[in-house]
Amino acid sequence: MPNFSMRDEIFFRAAEQFPTPFHLYDERGIRERARILNRAFSWCHDFREYFAVKALPNPTVLRILKEEGCGLDCSSSTELTLAKACGFSGEEVILSANAMPPEEFAQARALNAFINLDDISDIELLRTHGGFPECVCLRYNPGGHFSIGNTIMGNPGEAKYGFTLPQLKEGLEILKAAGVRAFGLHAFLSSNTTDNAYYPNLARTLLELGKELAAESGMRFAFVDLSGGIGIPYRPEEKAPDVLAIGESVRKVYDELIPDRSVGIKTELGRWMTGPMGWLVTHAVHEKKIYRHYIGVDASAVNLMRPAMYGAYHHITVCGKRDLPADQIYDITGSLCENNDKFAIERALPEIRIGDLLVIHDTGAHGYSMGYNYNGRLRSAEILYTREGDFRMIRRAETAADYFATLDVDPAAEALGVRRK
Ligand SMILES: *Cc1c(COP(=O)(O)O)cnc(C)c1O
Repeated sequence: MPNFSMRDEIFFRAAEQFPTPFHLYDERGIRERARILNRAFSWCHDFREYFAVKALPNPTVLRILKEEGCGLDCSSSTELTLAKACGFSGEEVILSANAMPPEEFAQARALNAFINLDDISDIELLRTHGGFPECVCLRYNPGGHFSIGNTIMGNPGEAKYGFTLPQLKEGLEILKAAGVRAFGLHAFLSSNTTDNAYYPNLARTLLELGKELAAESGMRFAFVDLSGGIGIPYRPEEKAPDVLAIGESVRKVYDELIPDRSVGIKTELGRWMTGPMGWLVTHAVHEKKIYRHYIGVDASAVNLMRPAMYGAYHHITVCGKRDLPADQIYDITGSLCENNDKFAIERALPEIRIGDLLVIHDTGAHGYSMGYNYNGRLRSAEILYTREGDFRMIRRAETAADYFATLDVDPAAEALGVRRK
């Protein structure tokens, strides 16, 4: 089930201090997750989690994760800039490429970050933009379907990422000829999976393949990067994955295949790390009864796009009414001129009054960061519920001036409140 550990009283207190909507993050919970993950892989002398920055690109959160021993997985120039500004460098950063401007390789090399190449053509780009490090990571795409038992977990054959097996072999030859000594292997074959078998299966695939490629190429097999994909239970009836058990299952596979323990392990979890530790807090501001019963809230898909984009389920509670019967059926909507701007569709909830405080759960990953500005709606603030039990604004809400800032080239700039270039 979703994370119900935060009491309604905390949301009420936060909403007294800050105007809604806002995302609220639980510092203690984020630290605890990092510690659980590190404990799960503590048997591996060379383990590091590289938090996927795109999931929650807030510097305060990134610094918290740094304190907990995590690195960062970046996929763009701005994410690399953020990593550097938060004090990450060298082995604490990995750049995962995908059809990116080649200058970003050079930027990552200047940080001395690990480079995870996505395509055989990236090898030439890296050569000419920053040059090769001693160890290069390659992303593998096995094609077809990725199954565990009879269950299809993912569809790599349709995914834009990674090298085919023949390309991996050819790529390693090119890299070896260029003086690269060691390689890592990366794959991301299943997203948001709560199945404990995912990581151990992926580890087996990558460890077996890495051994084979090392024997063939004569290069050192330095690490596997199991990437992201461990999911969270968005729905009340779903079960959370057991990360300690996952770590133990990966250990068994690892000890079987790598008895000399010479291969490191990296992960790039985003969703599992912070997803359940964030909530979008919003007020009911409108009620409408036509063919359905609508409650309009002051948040919209601009603040949380997953329901509109994927039809994703996010649990919703009404503060102070958790124990009341869910005997009403509502669509919970934002204000966008777009009918998919609905946080919930035909959802059973307790009776909602205008002014009620609603909490949308599990917004701590791929929530704020997926935001956009449709309809001229503005992104919200981000608030940290600190270890000490108080609230700290770690990003202010956007203002109209932020929205207009790039119109400094327009004759109306001054009328919009921005200085004309
Ligand atoms: C998005 C992404 C992740 C994180 O995925 P989650 O589903 O949040 O765990 C990790 N690695 C790469 C390369 C990604 O693109």
